[in-house]
Parts: sequence; structure tokens; C-alpha cells
Amino acid sequence: MTTRTLAALLAALALPSALAAQRRPTPLPPQIQAPPPGQAVVAGLIGGPQTPAVQRGAVVLVHAGRLIDGVADQPLLDQGIVVQGDRIAFVGPWAEAQRRAAGATVVDLSRATVLPGLIDNHTHLLLQGDITNADYEDQLLRQSTPYRAILGARNAQRALQQGFTVLRDVETEGAMYADVDIKRAINNGEIAGPRLWVSTRSFAPTGMYPITTPNWELDLPHGVQVVDGPDEIRRAVREQVRFGADLIKFYADRRYYFDSTRTLRSWVNFTDEELRAMVDEAHRLGRPVAAHAVGRDGIESALRAGVNTIEHGYGISDSLAQVMVRHNVYWCPTIYVNYYVAPGRAAAGATIYGQMIEEEQRAFTRAMRAGVKISFGTDVGGFAWTEPIAREFSYMVQYGMTPMQALKAATSVAAELLGQQANLGSVQAGRFADLIAVSGDPLQDIREMERVRWVMKGGVVYREEIGR
Ligand SMILES: [Zn+2]
Repeated sequence: MTTRTLAALLAALALPSALAAQRRPTPLPPQIQAPPPGQAVVAGLIGGPQTPAVQRGAVVLVHAGRLIDGVADQPLLDQGIVVQGDRIAFVGPWAEAQRRAAGATVVDLSRATVLPGLIDNHTHLLLQGDITNADYEDQLLRQSTPYRAILGARNAQRALQQGFTVLRDVETEGAMYADVDIKRAINNGEIAGPRLWVSTRSFAPTGMYPITTPNWELDLPHGVQVVDGPDEIRRAVREQVRFGADLIKFYADRRYYFDSTRTLRSWVNFTDEELRAMVDEAHRLGRPVAAHAVGRDGIESALRAGVNTIEHGYGISDSLAQVMVRHNVYWCPTIYVNYYVAPGRAAAGATIYGQMIEEEQRAFTRAMRAGVKISFGTDVGGFAWTEPIAREFSYMVQYGMTPMQALKAATSVAAELLGQQANLGSVQAGRFADLIAVSGDPLQDIREMERVRWVMKGGVVYREEIGR
């Protein structure tokens, strides 16, 4: 399809700014437990009452030696951040902040770099890595949903300990609405975790998503909600929203291949009529739509339907990038997951994942050149939660972003994707007091982001290796 045809089809579709409603989470019981050295994991899943580092409603003054605020192109030196309750009240030169917050509790990060809490816009809390089909099937066939939800809650804590104060979790892979329950437990203060935007079950049509088997006598668990036809899809969107979906996720394509012109292609899952119904119903209910779309065919199909985000998008061409820019469609490139799964999948006979790594590097260059809004999104869960989520930054920099661009992709740009720039993604007055700190300078070495040593979410400190 030419850009012109695609653009014409898209022009007929208004793209409402369907934004998930912000829910102010209730304050959490603080769990300030330093993890064992070298392990980014909070000790204890359900902590008992502990001494809060920051009393709710109290004024706290954070002294930032270097501040990367998520918006400015340069770091600011010797800054003060006044936190009142769960929000930032003031940001400015240290002397001025001291004057405004006389008598406040001081957090000394004067030898550290302070940043906004990080946002990962593509996660799977309910998945524990799936290099092969067997890995995936093991989880769906041998683990109950309650067991998977317990691991999901642990994963949410791991993410927060690594400085991720917000996750957009894009489907439970057969664990039904367990993402909504994890979110509820976090918001009710039962467990520590990031702010969550959840998509619940995701959609694919009959026979187009695992687990499938040639044995027609078996009815195996599905990794998605199976839906066919516009009416059934509308009903299913309403059902997911009823049970707590903040966004709608679907699988646009499968069976990826390179054609004779070396273009990454794919088989499309839904008819245009079905996708139009899905996107229309989701937007009517105020929910954005995220499309898993890997090959050119799948990306075109998703864009024709008016989706809000492309997930993976390894086959983004110059013309598709232009369409994404014109229609404000964000891209979550999920780079690291491919490096993680490709060798194992090649060993199992699927060599295309290695080729897709090279193709995505080219897509990244094209998208940056065109000005596509690229959000940090890792697909963690597709790779094990024991891996550092922030590893993705290194690849974004290797693929052509400056460290500052990569950091914005995980802060202000990621917050825009969520429609939450007034609340999240920057260190500015009025935003939630979601702050993190690292000892070194991530602008010199982006891997410093894998060593987050201090975490505050909503004015409550959850990790405190420095700053006392
Ligand atoms: Zn994913």
C-alpha cells in the first residue's frame, strides 16, 4: 500500500485522545528495605508496618546535585525539590528551595543524579520469560492464575526497586484479569509496586494465538481472549473495560517473514471491519488501543484502524513512520527482548528473530529521522524479570539516541503516551513526587540507569541506599 492510500484511509478516522483515566492511588505503607547487595529485589513480598521515611503530608526537601528533570535538554546543577504529601510543590536552585522549605526533612542527594521515576510502557507482569513455546506453555498449563498473580506482584516490586514507578502492562497471557488485581493491591497499599495501567487479556481471532494444538479434541488455555467478528469484538471490549482495562491490546499479526525484496512482512490477524469496531468501541469508552504489530502488513492494518500505539514495530518503513508522525501514533520498540530470545529461538529452528534484530535497528533509524514519538517499552516478562529492565537504555543509545533522548523516552515522552504529562514523567511543580537517584552520571554512562539506588513514589521512599 502506498503512503498516500494509507494516509487517505487514516484521514477518514479521527483519532481521539483516548486517555486512561488517572486514578490517584491511595498512599502506600512504606517498605524501606535495602535489598541484598547486587540484587534489585525488595525483601519480603508483604511487609509489615515499618517506619515511614516520609510522613504523609510532611514537607521533604530533596537536595539534587544533578537534576535531569525529564524535560530540559541539559541537566540542572545544585537543585532543591520540595515535596509536599505525594506531589512536588517546588523545583529550583538549592538556596531558594531551602528558603521555601525551612525546617523540612532533608534528603541529601547532593552527590547523586536525580531523575523522574521511570516509565516502562510495555511490560507483562504475569509472564516469566518465554524464549520457546515450551516456556510459554509451561506457564499456562502448569501454573494456576493465583500462583502467576503472586509472581506478578513480586515482579511489580522488582520494577519499583529498579526505579520504575509506572508500568503500562500490556496483557496477562492467559492470566485473565490478574493485572487488575495486582493494581488494586498496590493502590490499596497491600503491596509495594509502580502505578499501573493495565490492558487485561488482549485480543486475537480463533486459531491465531497460542496455545494451539493439532489435536482438535483438546480445549487448551488461550493466551488471549479469542474474538471473531465486529459484534463479538465490541462486546468483548465492553467486558474488558467493565473488569478494569485501562487500555485495549490486540495482536495485529503473526507468521513473520522476509519477502524477496527483504521487506519484513506478516500475516494479518483481523479484518479491517473487525479492527475498526475494536478501535471505535475502545475510543468510545475512553480507552486507547495498543497494537502488537511486527511486519509491514500488520503495522499497516493497525494504522488503518486508528490505533494509538505500535508495539514492537520491527518492520516500520519510511512511509509508515510518516503516517505515525501525522497521526501521533507512539512506538514502543522493545529492543532488548529480541536479543534475549533470538538465540534460544534460533536453536529451536526459528532463525528469523536474529534477522529481525537487524531490521529493527534500521527501523529505529527511520523512525528517529521521521520524528516518530518513541517511548521506552521493554517487553519485560518476555525476558525474565531477573534481568535489569533498564538494559533497554543501552540499546536505544546504541541505535542512535543520545542518553538524554533515551531518558526522555522513559519519562516525559512515556508520560505523554499515557496522557499523563500533567502528573508524571517530569520533575516539575504539581507532578507526583516520583523521583529516583543514581550515584553517577547517566549522560556519561547510560548503564548507570541499571544501578538505581534511591526510589521515591508519591512522596514515599522505597529504596534508600543513598540519601540518608
Ligand atoms: Zn509484549
